[in-house]
Amino acid sequence: MNNKYALVLVNIKGLGVKTFSYIIPDEIKDIIKIGQAVLVPFGRQGLINAFVVGFSNYLPEEIKAKKINKIIDETQLFTLDYLKLTEWVANYYMTDLVTVLNMVIPLKLLEHNSKSEEYIEFITDNNATKRQLIILNQLKEKGKTKLITFEKEVKTTRSTIKKLIENGCIKLTTDEIYRNPLQIFEQKVEPLFELSGEQKEVYEKISKKINSDNKFPILLHGVTASGKTEVYFKLIKDTLDKGKNILFLAPEIALASQLTKRLTKKFGINDVAIWHSSISEGERYDVWQKLNKNEIKILAGARSAVFAPLQNIGLIIIDEEHESAYKQNNPAPRYDTRVIAQKLAEFHNAPLLLGSATPDIVSYYKAKNSGTLFELKHRFNNVPLAKTSVINMQEHKRAAYKGTISKILETEIRETLEKDQQVIILVNRRGYSTFTQCQSCGTVLECKNCAIPIVWHSDEQVFKCHYCGSTQSFPDECPECGSNALHNTGLGIQKVELLIKEMFPDAKIERLDSDSLSRKNEHIKLLDRFQNKEIDILIGTQMVAKGLDNPNVTLVGVISADASFNLPDFRAPERGFQLLTQVAGRVGRGEFKGKVLFQTYNPDFYALESAKEQNYEDFYTTEIKAREDFDYPPFSKIIRLILSSENQFRTEKSSMEIAMRLRIMVDKFGIKEKLEVLGPTECVIGRLQNKYRYQILIKNKIEEKGHNFISKFLSQMIMPKDIKLAIDVDPLDIL
Ligand SMILES: [Zn+2]
Ligand SMILES: [Zn+2]
Repeated sequence: MNNKYALVLVNIKGLGVKTFSYIIPDEIKDIIKIGQAVLVPFGRQGLINAFVVGFSNYLPEEIKAKKINKIIDETQLFTLDYLKLTEWVANYYMTDLVTVLNMVIPLKLLEHNSKSEEYIEFITDNNATKRQLIILNQLKEKGKTKLITFEKEVKTTRSTIKKLIENGCIKLTTDEIYRNPLQIFEQKVEPLFELSGEQKEVYEKISKKINSDNKFPILLHGVTASGKTEVYFKLIKDTLDKGKNILFLAPEIALASQLTKRLTKKFGINDVAIWHSSISEGERYDVWQKLNKNEIKILAGARSAVFAPLQNIGLIIIDEEHESAYKQNNPAPRYDTRVIAQKLAEFHNAPLLLGSATPDIVSYYKAKNSGTLFELKHRFNNVPLAKTSVINMQEHKRAAYKGTISKILETEIRETLEKDQQVIILVNRRGYSTFTQCQSCGTVLECKNCAIPIVWHSDEQVFKCHYCGSTQSFPDECPECGSNALHNTGLGIQKVELLIKEMFPDAKIERLDSDSLSRKNEHIKLLDRFQNKEIDILIGTQMVAKGLDNPNVTLVGVISADASFNLPDFRAPERGFQLLTQVAGRVGRGEFKGKVLFQTYNPDFYALESAKEQNYEDFYTTEIKAREDFDYPPFSKIIRLILSSENQFRTEKSSMEIAMRLRIMVDKFGIKEKLEVLGPTECVIGRLQNKYRYQILIKNKIEEKGHNFISKFLSQMIMPKDIKLAIDVDPLDIL
C-alpha cells in the first residue's frame, strides 16, 4: 500500500453516517484493506469505530488529518466490488455514496465492539405483557436500563421492545418466528417436484440460454398458477450443483417469508437465510457476517436483500417482477431493485431471471426484442383459467343491492357459499367512501396539509389522509358554508364490507387492507386462516391479489373494476390490468372450476377487455403502441425532479428557473432530442404535508450519459435553502 490516507466511514450520533480521511500509520500500511474495521480518534468522542472505504494520496490543504489508531479486525466486512456497486448506485440515482452506504450497511457493524454496554432509558406502560416486563426488569437489574411505568398507549411498549431487540438484548419473541421462519423448521429436505411437459421444455430452454451467453435479463412470463416456482427451483438446484449461490427476491416481506419456508423444505435449513427491512439489527448483523464468510448459499428476501453481501452469485431471481414494491420511493436513493440486480448480475457474470404473470411492459419489451423471453402458457396440470364475465353497472345498477352489489354477483356469492367454497371480493379503495362533499355548497373536504380529499373511515370514526396519514374527526358543519349537508360519496372497502355483511349475515367475513392490520404479521395470520377455510368471504384491497394459492376459492368479484384505471398517470392502465389479471388468477387453482366477475361502468376499456380474456399479449400490443406514440418507457427513461417548499410562489419560480437553464444547457450541447425537458408543472398532488410541489420531467434517451449530464447540471445550481429537491430516477408514478 503506497497511499497516505484512508477514507473511513463512521456513524456519529446526531450526524449519521459520514466519511472522513485519516493518515495510515506505517505499521499498518501493508495490511490495511477496504472493508476492515479500524479505530480512529474523533473529536470529543474519543476513539470510535470506523470502516475503510477508500484510499488516496492527497488531501485538500485546509484539512488536517489525524492518524488511524489501529485495525480492530483484519477480516473485510465488505469487498471492493461491493463498494463499486454502491458507487454505481449513487451515480445512477444521482445521490451520494454516503446516502447509499447509510442505507445498506447495518448500523450495528459500525458499532461493532464499542458501545454495547450503553445505558438505555426505557418507558413502558401498564399494558406491557408479563414477559416483556420480566425482560425489562432483568435488564434494569443488570444496570442496562431504567424502567419507568406509565399509563400510555401500547405503541410505546412495542417500540421499546423493538429497541431492545435491535440492541440484541432480547433474543426471540413470538413475532420473530414469523419474521424468521427458519427457526421453526426442522432440517428435513423434500425432493423437488417433477416438472410437467411445458415446464420442462421452458426449463431446458432457459437453462440452455444461461449456459450459452450472457444476454440478460431473462424473463419468464407464465400465466397465473403455471408453476413458475418449480422452474425456479430446478434452476436453483443446477446453480448449487455448480457450487454457486442464489439470490431470490419476492416483492413483500410476507411473500419472502412464504418463499423461505418453501426453500428450506427443498434445500435444507443451513444453506438458506432471509433478509428484509423488518429483521432486527442483530439478525442483520449475523446474516451479514455469515454471507461474508460464504456460509449461506440461498438468500431470500424483499427488495433490500439486493444489497446483502452475498458472495459467489450464480443466479438472481426476481419473482413477481412487475410489483411496484421493488421500487423504493422514499428516502433517497429511490432505487429499483431490478436495475440494481441487473448490475449485480453483471458484476458476478451471473444470469438475472425475472418472473411474472403480468410482466412490466418495459421488461417484456426488452426480453421480446433480445430473445430472452420464455413463456408458460398453460396452468399447471392444464387446469383451465377461470371464466371471466363483465357486469356493466350502467345496466345493472338499479337492481343492485343499494346500487352497489349486482344481482349476478349476489347470486354467485350465495351459490359459492352453498357449495362450501370461498369467495374473494376486491375493492381497491381504502376507507368507507372516496370523498366527502357538502351537498349545499359543493365543497369537498380536504386534508389540512395536502391538496387531497380526506377519506371517512367508519371503523375508527375518523377522516384519514391517505397521503400524509393525518386524521381528523367529522366536523359538525361544512367549514365553508356552515350547513350540515356533508355527505360521504363514492365507494370504499369499509362500505362494501358492511353491505356484504348485511346480505350474508351467517357467513364468516373478514377484511384485508392496511387499515385492518394493526399488528405486524397479522397479514400472514389472516391469510393462514383463509387458507384453513376459517373465512368464507375475504374482502380486500390489492393485498388480496398477491400470493394466495387456495384451491377452495372459486369466486372472485371485483366491485369497481375501473377504479384503478382512472389515475392521472401513464402507468394506470398497466397497473389496472395487472391487478385484475392477478386477482382473477387467485381463483380455480384446484379441482373446482372458478368464476370471476368484474363490475364496471366502463366495459369497453382496452385494458379491462384484455384482463377479462387474461390476454397479456393483447394488452401489450395496445399499450406498447401508446408508449411509443408518447415516448414513454421503454422508449425513453424518465428522470423526475420534484421541488417542494412551504412557499408556493418561490417553489414555482425555482422550478421554472431550473427548467429554463436545463433547456439552455441541452440546447447548447445539441442533445435537445435526447434529453427532453417537460414542465415545470404543479404535481397532481399539488400540496403534500404542507409543502407545495412542482415537477420537471425529463425524457432521457441516452441512458447513463443523461444521468451524468443532469447530475453535473444540478451540482452547479445553487438552490434556495428552503426549497427541497428530490430526484426520482425511473419513477413508478408521476403523481
Ligand atoms: Zn358547504
Ligand atoms: Zn395529508
